[in-house]
Amino acid sequence: MGSSLRRIARSPVLALLITVACSVLLAAPTSIAPNAILEHIKFLASDAMKGRGDGSPELEVAAEYVAKQFNAVGLQPGGTNNEWFQPFQLDAGLTVGKGNTLSVVVRGRTLNFTLGTSYYPLSATSNEDASKPSADLRDLPLVFAGYGLAVPNVGYDDYAGIDVTDKAVLIFSHEPQERDGNSRLNGARPVPQTTLTSKASLARSRGAKVLLIVGDPTHQNDDAPYALFGRDPDAEEHPIPVLRIRRSEAQPIIDAWQLDTIARQIDGDLMPRSRELKDAKVDYVEFLAKNRRMVRNVIGVLPGSDPARARESIVIGAHYDHVGLGGRLSVSPERTGEIHNGADDNASGTASIIEIARAAVADRARFPRTLVFVAFAGEERGLLGSAFYTTQPRMPMEGTIAMLNLDMVGRANGSVDVSGLEVAPSMEADFATAVKASGATLKIKREGPGAGRSDDYNFIVRRVPAINFFTGFHPDYHRPGDDWEKIDAPGTSQVARLALELAAALANRSARPEFVSTP
Ligand SMILES: [Zn+2]
Ligand SMILES: [Zn+2]
Repeated sequence: MGSSLRRIARSPVLALLITVACSVLLAAPTSIAPNAILEHIKFLASDAMKGRGDGSPELEVAAEYVAKQFNAVGLQPGGTNNEWFQPFQLDAGLTVGKGNTLSVVVRGRTLNFTLGTSYYPLSATSNEDASKPSADLRDLPLVFAGYGLAVPNVGYDDYAGIDVTDKAVLIFSHEPQERDGNSRLNGARPVPQTTLTSKASLARSRGAKVLLIVGDPTHQNDDAPYALFGRDPDAEEHPIPVLRIRRSEAQPIIDAWQLDTIARQIDGDLMPRSRELKDAKVDYVEFLAKNRRMVRNVIGVLPGSDPARARESIVIGAHYDHVGLGGRLSVSPERTGEIHNGADDNASGTASIIEIARAAVADRARFPRTLVFVAFAGEERGLLGSAFYTTQPRMPMEGTIAMLNLDMVGRANGSVDVSGLEVAPSMEADFATAVKASGATLKIKREGPGAGRSDDYNFIVRRVPAINFFTGFHPDYHRPGDDWEKIDAPGTSQVARLALELAAALANRSARPEFVSTP
């Protein structure tokens, strides 16, 4: 439909015929207009929404917008007290009180570290009030525990033979033999035990009171976001305080006990060389409080057209929160403070479920089972909105036959990744039907990060088959450049149409799809 059409269209009669033909096509009840999707994305990913961070006032404006749209397309409210919203609490950011101090005595010489400059907390334990200490640890002996790893299947344990009970533990980041493709520690790929979560819980389980992490010798350029903590204080939650210490400031400790040399020896033979650092003492006093915030899932319902089957439902979900100004969730820590608009992640999915709802309402007879549309909050902070929904579902989880999730569907550019069919292989037939009915020209891929990386996870763990639609990672992922101008709106509408047709197929199938296995 290029220039030749324009030439023919100069004939008024033909032009009229073409106009009629096109409007008939557009009026087909299952069409989803790319422009309608793009308009929602423009609003949700505008700078005025400031990145829709959890706990921000802008997220609440976005919630009101989604509710208004659900209402306009003809859904019924499905939230708490028959309103549109399902409120729940989450932790978002920290309040930093006065009096935070960290000092290490090294053979009689005291090193004082400064919060936000030479150290920052990677972990904050629950505390309501920043004027009360969240940790007050004095005169702790200091133990060096290598890389802080225990990998039983290769017999490596940095804590073997040392006692860290009620002590401070100093470890290096990453793992030994990190770039060695032949390493017994999973070759050049990290072992799962290298995560902060694993290292923190291991230290805690061996009795440590506080874990200090310094960049390992192969990462001399310490680019951890120290200053960010001052701009946007936030931390994960682990059972003990975990502090990142700037390598250059920790140099006197490293030098006093030759820790770089020891690390190289461990790299060489993969033999742990942990030891108590005699004549070292650690004082750590912390005043941090978690910010509790109320956020809201937005829920709209299209009751099934068949009263007998309307008790069963399909959830169609997309998270509408994003990472705000970046904070610890930004992939560009140096650019935190800038608005991370989240057009693809996940204004695209949110816009899609609004337009899927519009198309479904317009063609309700195609949906004998009930559709529950949920825009989730709290996804970026650990899939919290979907976790909450599954504990207080609008329709019983036993009757929830499937979940369709759309997370980052704005950059199809010719293809979409579909995951989750492996947990319910009988849905392959429904999916094939949907591909055909949607007329999608997108290439369907099955090679994404796999099921359970987004809100679909909380359904899969409850044995509800969940399908995730995803158009792929890109260099703007969790960065300020995730803007609406880069959205492929026609591609997004194709993904939405595909999800709509899959919902129709599932709403009509005789028996519910069988859940086979957790991936
Ligand atoms: Zn997302
Ligand atoms: Zn995200």
